[in-house]
Amino acid sequence: MTSLIQRIAALKPADANGASPSTRNGSAAPKQLLEDKTGSSHLIEVVGMNKSYGDVRVLSDITFYVRNNEFLTLLGPSGCGKSTTLRILAGFEQPDDGQVLFEGHDLTAIPPFQRKLNTVFQRYALFPHLSVFENIAFGLRVKNVPKQEIAGRVEQALRTVDLQGYGKRWVDQLSGGQMQRVAIARAIVNKPMVLLLDEPLGALDLKMRKEMQVELKEMQRSLGITFIYVTHDQEEALTMSDTIIVMKEGVIQQIGRPIDIYNEPRNAFVAGFIGESNIIPGQMARDYEVGFAGRTFCCVDKRFADEAVDVVVRPEDIDIGEPGEDRVNGEVISVVFKGVHYEMLVESEGFQWMVHSTDHAPEGSRVGLSFGPDDIHIMAKSDFSPDRLHPGEGIDGPDADEPATIEEDPSGGAWT
Ligand code: ADP
Ligand code: MG
Repeated sequence: MTSLIQRIAALKPADANGASPSTRNGSAAPKQLLEDKTGSSHLIEVVGMNKSYGDVRVLSDITFYVRNNEFLTLLGPSGCGKSTTLRILAGFEQPDDGQVLFEGHDLTAIPPFQRKLNTVFQRYALFPHLSVFENIAFGLRVKNVPKQEIAGRVEQALRTVDLQGYGKRWVDQLSGGQMQRVAIARAIVNKPMVLLLDEPLGALDLKMRKEMQVELKEMQRSLGITFIYVTHDQEEALTMSDTIIVMKEGVIQQIGRPIDIYNEPRNAFVAGFIGESNIIPGQMARDYEVGFAGRTFCCVDKRFADEAVDVVVRPEDIDIGEPGEDRVNGEVISVVFKGVHYEMLVESEGFQWMVHSTDHAPEGSRVGLSFGPDDIHIMAKSDFSPDRLHPGEGIDGPDADEPATIEEDPSGGAWT
């Protein structure tokens, strides 16, 4: 099986400029970002951005940068402020304070149509009374681009989204996936430097969504433009992005490459949101030694001497076998066959361990779980720690079926 983690590992690191992902985290050093102009490839910088609607704070101290040609994803549960962030970048909303810089210039006074950004919304907002060609050509006609040039650019855009020959069709003759492609073609025909995509695949069925994920990623590479992508689907974010920004309730929780976010989640929220996790309260005994589940384990972490911590062990990193003295012993309380692996719940001293394995242990059997020092990830305690959450509060994981917000694209995507 190609597991999620193998697919992530196969992704090329995006940090070609050598900046450590940790310097990109949340409110870290906004001043440094601002000063970092010499030869900087930061296309966009968002610094200390806040936004409230009435009394409700929806964005708190949002600080991040976007590199040229990067595929950057804003990821988080519904209502965490992803679309608001995107709308501010596009210019449809103003932040209460903070700055958005584009190539070092403040964007505040620049109206949406003069920004070098184009938005693709979840609902495609295509004109049903126009052909595919005319839908894509619309923005160019508004700008009085010569006819000859329009024809060439629309053809090129159709080729890019793999819809050659569809120009004469009516949009209501198209499938959902084809409409989505037209919406993308309509955005890229304007040759934007940045494409903002707000849950663009949300309306597609799972199979089509997976295909479009691959195609979008290829498109981004071949067009060589920057994508800022919004999704609540962690797998989508992990497979497509160079960089992921994980948000919750208007606060950036972590910024990093998919592999870093997966392997080194910063807190229990990120660990729970990005893939399935066993999150166990633990106590660092000393460097490289952590106590949890009633035992002491070797680990590769040395940051938290003497501290209470959260320990993450991914279900696929656990080996399941015979009980033994050096293992976490327990009873299998449920087994679900997931197609390639089994998902098993093993109860041990009141904790239920989730295990993903191609080895099968029947329900009711006694087993021993083992994992190596590399499989133990240590996180600082946070408000999201399992033993600090109030009853009824969970880490709301991604929900692929959740209806995403529907948005209008008032100008029909005709901005430059
Ligand atoms: P996401 O895209 O992550 O689902 P949004 O950015 O759309 O989240 O919304 C963030 C929060 O701001 C939500 O609580 C939402 O209800 C609220 N919100 C968004 N737009 C408005 C608005 N125009 N007026 C009032 N509240 C809003
Ligand atoms: Mg949204």
